[in-house]
Amino acid sequence: MRVRNKPWAPELIEAHPEKIVEKGQAFKGQWNQRFEKEQPIFIEVGTGKGQFIINMAKKYPQYNFIGIEIQKTVIAIALKNALEEEIPNLQFLYADGAELTDYFEDGEVSKVFLNFSDPWPKTRHEKRRLTFKTFLKVYEQILVKNGEVEFKTDNQGLFEYSLYSLNNYGMTFEGVWLDLHNSEENEDNVETEYEHKFSAKGQPIYKLKAHF
Ligand code: SAM
Repeated sequence: MRVRNKPWAPELIEAHPEKIVEKGQAFKGQWNQRFEKEQPIFIEVGTGKGQFIINMAKKYPQYNFIGIEIQKTVIAIALKNALEEEIPNLQFLYADGAELTDYFEDGEVSKVFLNFSDPWPKTRHEKRRLTFKTFLKVYEQILVKNGEVEFKTDNQGLFEYSLYSLNNYGMTFEGVWLDLHNSEENEDNVETEYEHKFSAKGQPIYKLKAHF
């Protein structure tokens, strides 16, 4: 996701330490203290402008949600969108998904969502894909035992690669959908901003659910 630099972004982040964390190490093992209720924590890595995580938090108040994003301007936009309402079970973390073991204790997270992750189609960029084995190792460590990963994309190449990568890692698939929007699984679907854009163009949306 490319966005123009927003001069207000750093100031907005600094003004809302109750909602967004820039130095995640301080909360390792203690994320639940940042929420009103102690309940299972679900994270989205690469949360973008926040549409999915905001609507998930509103739909499922029985879980705590953390949107994680590597681009400061992008997470500032997500924060701005989230501040329009009072959503007590939602937090943001400005961080690189590759470093999540620095910010979460082993087993602290109950589910990882990956949505429309950057495809990085060149083989030499494989390591940057959020379903590359080093990322899977990070998710496995911070997730509860048999923790689940849910992944959606419009990108066939990245989806095929992810099936291969998760399978090679030894993960167990709970479901694979090649046209999510025309499946029963869609009943509970919460759209992301990219999903909305691509499905409007008639592109099928792929989804997988798998656990370690
Ligand atoms: N999930 C949103 C959606 O579905 O609309 C945004 C999708 S956008 C294509 C991918 C996002 O992942 C970008 O905002 C990008 O900055 C973020 N991202 C890429 N690599 C990341 C990483 N290693 N850690 C955290 N975020 C990352």
